[in-house]
Amino acid sequence: MLAVNELYKYYREFPAVAGVSFQVNPGEIVGLLGPNGAGKTTLLRCISGILALSAGQVAINGFDLIQNPREAKQRLAFVPEVPSLYELLTVREHLRFIAMCFNRLERYERIGDRLLLKFDLLEKADEFVATLSKGMKQKLAVACALVHDANVLLLDEPLIGIDPRGAREFKVELTEQRDAGNAILISTHLLDTAERFCDRVIILAKGKKIAEGTMEQLRAASNMAGATLEDVFLRLTEEHESAIPIFGPPPVV
Ligand code: ATP
Repeated sequence: MLAVNELYKYYREFPAVAGVSFQVNPGEIVGLLGPNGAGKTTLLRCISGILALSAGQVAINGFDLIQNPREAKQRLAFVPEVPSLYELLTVREHLRFIAMCFNRLERYERIGDRLLLKFDLLEKADEFVATLSKGMKQKLAVACALVHDANVLLLDEPLIGIDPRGAREFKVELTEQRDAGNAILISTHLLDTAERFCDRVIILAKGKKIAEGTMEQLRAASNMAGATLEDVFLRLTEEHESAIPIFGPPPVV
């Protein structure tokens, strides 16, 4: 389970994430949505431990990220928007190396080739990572997250650049991960995918959480019976845009 409590991240004076709290429970896929610059990547990077929090707490399966970073990170996998991979390892070596780092060699031996096959990487298994296309690198990053067998998966725009077959396999894999009781947080701008695929969504705007819930809860909260997630998202983010200017001159009255 992932628990985030009153998380703040400032870049100098600028609050990129401003007091966000939520949980992702075991067996749940939660979509993290928001306009450009809402703070999604910053939030995911804070939860993964790549960026230091300015304030707040993050717990992974009960382990506090600051107090027990090793235990927390052992249970967490993060696929960043632009994966940074070891270019001079081969694809197979890379997957094996990540498995080794997380003490999952046995799992690599068992499912490594199946993962490479699923993501159409088996024929590239002995090629250097540097020679992969952008989408192939993205697929390898996802395969690395899956070989790690984490309890909490964080994915930042994972479907960008992945072909339709890879996207289908990815969704099947994530559904299996959810059914196995893992907690998944996935940032995306693909609202139709989020609507079909996520159990709940969280909407950020200007660093704040402005909505959270199932589709039904969001429709009810915004008085939009039968609306799509796109309709609800646009309504809520537009309302927020006009209601709470964080920066800039005070509203003229
Ligand atoms: P997108 O949908 O465009 O990927 P996002 O929701 O992921 O956006 P972030 O990348 O988290 O948004 O950025 C949130 C805010 O923080 C933006 O205003 C951005 O300009 C600012 N920001 C991000 N990184 C830095 C940085 N290193 N230094 C200063 N400001 C930053």
